[in-house]
Order: sequence, then structure tokens, then C-alpha cells
Amino acid sequence: MAAETLFDVVVIGAGPGGYTFAIRAAQLGLRVACVDAWRNDKGGPAPGGTCTNIGCIPSKALLHSSEHFENATRHFGDHGIRIESVAIDVEKMLARKATVVRQNNEGILYLFKKNKITFFHGQARFEARSADGYRIAVAGTDTMLSAPQVVIATGSVPRPLPGVAFDEKRVLSNDGALAIPQVPRRLGVIGAGVVGLELGSVWRRLGAEVTMLEALPAFLPTADEQIAREALKQFTRQGLKIQLGVDIEGVDVAGEAIKVRYLDSNKAPQALECDKLIVSIGRLPTTEGLNGQAIGLKLDERGFIEVDASCQTAVAGVWAIGDVVRGPMLAHKAEEEAVAVAETIAGQHGHVDLDTIPWVIYTAPEIAWVGRTEQQLKASGQAYRAGFFPFAANGRARAMGDTAGLVKVLADAQTDRVLGVHAVGPMASELIAEAVLAMAFNASSEDIARVVHAHPTLSEVTREAALAVEGRALNI
Ligand code: FAD
Repeated sequence: MAAETLFDVVVIGAGPGGYTFAIRAAQLGLRVACVDAWRNDKGGPAPGGTCTNIGCIPSKALLHSSEHFENATRHFGDHGIRIESVAIDVEKMLARKATVVRQNNEGILYLFKKNKITFFHGQARFEARSADGYRIAVAGTDTMLSAPQVVIATGSVPRPLPGVAFDEKRVLSNDGALAIPQVPRRLGVIGAGVVGLELGSVWRRLGAEVTMLEALPAFLPTADEQIAREALKQFTRQGLKIQLGVDIEGVDVAGEAIKVRYLDSNKAPQALECDKLIVSIGRLPTTEGLNGQAIGLKLDERGFIEVDASCQTAVAGVWAIGDVVRGPMLAHKAEEEAVAVAETIAGQHGHVDLDTIPWVIYTAPEIAWVGRTEQQLKASGQAYRAGFFPFAANGRARAMGDTAGLVKVLADAQTDRVLGVHAVGPMASELIAEAVLAMAFNASSEDIARVVHAHPTLSEVTREAALAVEGRALNI
């Protein structure tokens, strides 16, 4: 008979949603258990979920390493730095990435300890409702957890191409794409979204010939069109071959070679031969093994757990956050929901503003935005004014030798309230924080324009774009 342990709240999953929830709930005085099934290569716990193990963190480690390599091979000469020979040691690069991941896993375990969160390693499964709330079994342990409140933060998994399973050797999800042991000569990527662009960029910089096949007719349709056009121009210039509007007919994997059969945008049959194929066509919410039916949990038609605006399911005391529910599949969105739910359970007023969630693509140039795009504003009929400013006219960007791209500010035509800010260029991921803050405080473009920005910084581009809304940019 399993021992039953009572907590105030059990959170299932220790990705950015789950572990952030656990920390905030513990800070608020709740007795918290967190259950996570992720195993490291020795079978031990590896909290942090997709983000830490095979997502945000390892991809950024490889993006930085490969950017250093590209700078050394292509750009250092512009700075007068002569390097006689540069070589890439993929094994060492991957080992460094693994160390970064491990440091993050250990950091989360440390935070659990520090905050007195009880961590269980294993697959969690709803057993039944109980007098105290819900009973949850943890596979591989004889513990039965019981709590009146349960938060599901089970995340997502990569969506496979129909009929083509991931073998992680030739047909790769993000997991295998972050661990290719040697630079492939020819790399195919199906899906030119965020993950495909980031991972395609890593291996292109290291020397692979990368061809990306995208089903949608437009490049990055969720980004502002002007920004997407500029990004496509830069990526094509760098050597990424991006084909839009394709229709994948099939993938033949025979021996070492992979052949992707597809119709191009003119409906002409084509074939792409490659040595490795990354399939990055979206992600599916994880509810398998959870046994949600035991407590009457409802999924929507796409398999996401149904929640209301405050992340509460229709089952009393059961909440769901992060990739397993509607909304953008982003780590910081999961974290925001985590904090809001913890505060709500503790009797405070948790709140997430989905309108000010920033989006970032960590390519070079980086792409980042918050709020609405120009095409969305046009479609909704909202009157707006736009101002933009190129990095090419910014002193810091020139000094860095990184002048591609622009920042664009969109503001309400009557009130001047900022409706969206869009950037493609150096450090766009960092620059967007100012825009998020501005929008969270309902700032006007004039507010941004009147704030002192240090010189010379890239952030002056945002200020100039805000000034340009009124047609009074100074340095152009
Ligand atoms: P997850 O991180 O997926 O964590 C869920 C956890 O729950 C996992 O550890 C899983 O093992 C566990 N679990 C599932 N079921 C059970 C169960 N029954 N019992 C116990 N444990 C269970 N987002 C960004 O914001 N920025 C980025 O730069 C970024 N880069 C990315 C790069 C890549 C290659 C990928 C694939 C994703 C990236 N993302 C990025 C998205 C980000 O990783 C996710 O949005 C984020 O991880 C979602 O957090 P989560 O807590 O909802 O779920």
C-alpha cells in the first residue's frame, strides 16, 4: 500500500511553468510538491523541461558558439583581426552545451531545496478524486500524493510529419537537431518557423548547406511584414535557402540518404536530397499518461487542456499552464501564468497580459516584437501612425559592424498609445524589453521619445523610431 502524503498543491511538470509555479507558491507559504519525469543521460532527474533540456537553453548555447565561429571565419577580418586558421570541434561545442544544460538542471534542484519544495522524479498520473482533493501516483515510487489544488504544467512535444517518425539520427526533432555529432553536408529543414530558423542557422554557420521548406506562402506570417521581408533578405544573403508555399508529398529514408518529395509554389514536383532532416512543424500538448479522464479533465479539439482566462480548468482546484494550454508556446508565457496561478491560489490577484508577451527569434539578425503588427492593425481598421529607424544610421551599430535591420513603432493615430514595436537587428531580444515595459504602462510613442537613452547604444534606434512616429527622427 502506497504511503499517502498531503500537500497544499501538487504541480506536475518542472519546465519553466512548473518550476516557476513551485517557487512562487512556496514563497507564498504553501506546501508544494513538484513531479517531473525528465531523465538526464544517467537516468537522474533533469528539471527544466523542454526549455532547459532540449529547447531555449541548449539552442542559445549552440547559437552563441556557432555565431562566434561565423564571426571568426567571416567577420573578424573587418576588425583587423587576422586568424590564420579556424576549425570547428563539434564534440567540444556539444559538450559545452551539455554543461550549460546541467548547470541549469542543478540550479533548479538548488532552488527547490532552498524553497523547501518536495521534488519527485517520475511520471505523475491522476488516480482519483479523494476527500482531500486529488490523488496522484508517481511511477517508480511508492508515494501517493494528495492535494486540494493541482497544477498541470506538462508542456509539449514536437509534432511529427505524418508517416515519418523521428529517429533522431537522420529525421530529427529539436532534440536530435541539437546533438548532430558532425556538421552535415546537406541539411534539410521542414518548417521555417522559430525553431527551424534557429537550428537551421546554427548548422549553416558551421558549414552545412541548409535548405528550408515551408508550407505557408508567406515568410514568418505572424511577424510584421516589413520586419519579415528584411529578415528574409538577410537570411537569404547569408546562404539559407528558403522555399515558401511548398507541399510536402513524402519523405524517403534509405540508408544514409534522405529524399523529400514536394510540390513547389508553382505545383511543380521537386525533390530535396539531404543527409539530415529537421522536422520543425509545430508542437503538440502533452497529456499522455496523465489519466486526466479519472478526474474529468477536458481537452479542446486540438488536444490542449481547456482553461479559462485565469488558467483554471472546469474541474475545481485543477489548473493548467504553459505549452499544454492555449496561447503562445513560450517559456516566459508559461512563467507568467505560473506566477499568476500561484498568487491566485494563495488568495491574491494573479494576472497575465497576453497582449504584451514578447516574441523573439534568436537568429542573426535577431527578430523581436510585442503587440500588434501593421497588417493586423490594417485588417482591424484601427487608425495608426508608424515610425521606423534603421540600425545603419546608429553610431553603436556602425561601431559594432552590425547595421542590418530596423526598429518600428506603431502608435494609435488619436491617442499616440503604443500598439506594437517590431525589431530586426542586433540584440533585438534585449531591446524589446523597453517596448514591453512601455506597452505594459500604456506609454505613448512620445513617452519613449522623451526618455533619455544613453549614447551610443542600440536602444537609441528604438527612441528614434518613436520620434519618427511624429516625423521628427533626429539622425536620419
Ligand atoms: P515544458 O518545458 O515542456 O516542461 C514540461 C515538463 O513536464 C517536462 O519536463 C516533462 O517531462 C514533464 N512531464 C510531462 N508529463 C508529465 C507527467 N505526466 N508526469 C511528470 N512529468 C511530466 N521559448 C522561449 O520563450 N524562448 C526560446 O528561446 C525558446 N526556444 C526554444 C527552442 C526550441 C528548440 C524549442 C523546442 C522550444 C523553445 N521554446 C522557447 C519554447 C519553450 O521551450 C516552451 O514554451 C516551454 O518549455 C514551455 O514550458 P512548460 O513548462 O509549459 O513545458
